[in-house]
Amino acid sequence: MLKVWNTLHRELEEFKPIKAGEVGMYTCGPTVYNPVTLGNWRAFIFDDVLHRSLEFFGYQVKHVMNITDVGHLVGDGDEGEDKIEREAVRQGKTAQEIARHHEAAFREGMKRLHITEPNFMPRATEHIPEQIALIQQLEKKGATYRISDGIYFDTSKFLDYGKLSGQALDEKKAGTRVAVNPEKRHSSDFALWKFSYPNGRSFDSAQDASRRHMEWESPWGTGFPGWHIECSAMSVKYLGQPFDIHCGGVDHLAVHHENEIAQTEAASGKSLAHYWLHNEFLLVDGRRMGKSEGNAYTLDDVIARGFDPLAFRYYCLGTHYRQKMNFTWEGLEAAQNALNKLWEIARSIESSVSSIQYTQYPILNTFQSSLEDDLNTPQALAVMWEMLKSDLSDEEKRGALLKMDDVLGLHINDFFGKKIRVPIEVKKLAEERQKARQEKQWEKADELRKKIRDLGWEVEDQENGFEVRVLT
Ligand code: AMP
Ligand code: ZN
Repeated sequence: MLKVWNTLHRELEEFKPIKAGEVGMYTCGPTVYNPVTLGNWRAFIFDDVLHRSLEFFGYQVKHVMNITDVGHLVGDGDEGEDKIEREAVRQGKTAQEIARHHEAAFREGMKRLHITEPNFMPRATEHIPEQIALIQQLEKKGATYRISDGIYFDTSKFLDYGKLSGQALDEKKAGTRVAVNPEKRHSSDFALWKFSYPNGRSFDSAQDASRRHMEWESPWGTGFPGWHIECSAMSVKYLGQPFDIHCGGVDHLAVHHENEIAQTEAASGKSLAHYWLHNEFLLVDGRRMGKSEGNAYTLDDVIARGFDPLAFRYYCLGTHYRQKMNFTWEGLEAAQNALNKLWEIARSIESSVSSIQYTQYPILNTFQSSLEDDLNTPQALAVMWEMLKSDLSDEEKRGALLKMDDVLGLHINDFFGKKIRVPIEVKKLAEERQKARQEKQWEKADELRKKIRDLGWEVEDQENGFEVRVLT
């Protein structure tokens, strides 16, 4: 039974999906204006481990991660420049060029870190009508108001405001440190639509020195969506409402996620997501990472220092996601050494057999229990090492390790089966066939066996799983 820490209720809860056997999950993706930092990667690796674990448990996962390519401003209080537009001016490029460049780099980084590609990665700029429609819904409910720089959400109209972070509206007001726009009714109110030019008028070359690269007409005037609205519009579009799991880093909890909840729930009267999972921060040498600190390291820094990006993945797995992780270069070196050792063992137990067994080894239950305990990856790694030290046969170790790697994503597959490598389609078909057999769908199972044969492989049933080998 999977248990997760649900930030919404501040407790460990049994995970119950809305639809049996399926999970819809949403991840706040990157703002594509600069290289993604190791801190951000920690968040995305955590999301990936969650995604892979859910599949390991047998769920069919629908994962959505947005790409923020407009509207994320420099200031926390809906003020300042748009991060992407600012970068475009600095580099003499268009905002689109900046956004696409960093999105491509992000996708490349995902591959290097073995992050499973989510089913949908929608861009904010390609969902402007959906965002406008949601603001119109809020307008109808009387939850918005207009000031000179945009349309704002009135947080006092949403009685539950603050439920995620457990802060009442008044506390939030008192505690706020961001510069407050004096036209806002409450400091916690936030922009739904920002005007490009004062009061929403159109560009006027006589009055405006420059014009935004990305702006749209709207019922309220020329402008662009606020940052929070994109996640509400796109999560619901692809996952329905409510959906199962929403994740992100703890820095998004008190403002961004609180605002996502407020605007979605105020518009529809229905809850947004049942479970909210937040990963803790990655610190560098005990300090917050930041450009001004000179420690906003990226994957390129990791590679430039001679490390494999997967050493960083391994490093992240060694800390529970709800614990702060202290990144040091020595720590990364230790992770690289452990990973090298793992790969070496994988090579050394590569045996002479011509088949691979996919069996429900008892050790996999222990591995699964660790993950079911709020995704305890340090524990799961410990189970893996114990298993490698145990007196299981090499064949069994190989089978169990391969299965564990479905969650860990540490490239173990590559060190096995140099001689025989099972193509992913064959493995998938064999798993499907096993499921069909469990459901006593014999005809389907036979058909799948044929398909596997057509690919040049033979599948054989075993007590708790199956074995595949090359057809001879
Ligand atoms: P952003 O591009 O700023 O929206 O961040 C992308 C993801 O990384 C979000 O889920 C953030 O909460 C998360 N994040 C940002 N900085 C860190 C950090 N230092 N450690 C862990 N997660 C972070
Ligand atoms: Zn978001």
